[in-house]
Amino acid sequence: MSLNERVKVTIRCNSCGERFILRGRKEKGKIDTGFKQCICNNVNDFDIEAHDF
Ligand SMILES: [Zn+2]
Repeated sequence: MSLNERVKVTIRCNSCGERFILRGRKEKGKIDTGFKQCICNNVNDFDIEAHDF
């Protein structure tokens, strides 16, 4: 059993609509992708969807 589950994460910016597809880790129910901010400087208004590999 692995503690860190690898996931594919789709992040959509609610401000400009840009989409990013990243790889991340699911840790204790939280998703860590290293994603910081959108190209439009939005830092916290995102739709985040995680898919298991
Ligand atoms: Zn944006």
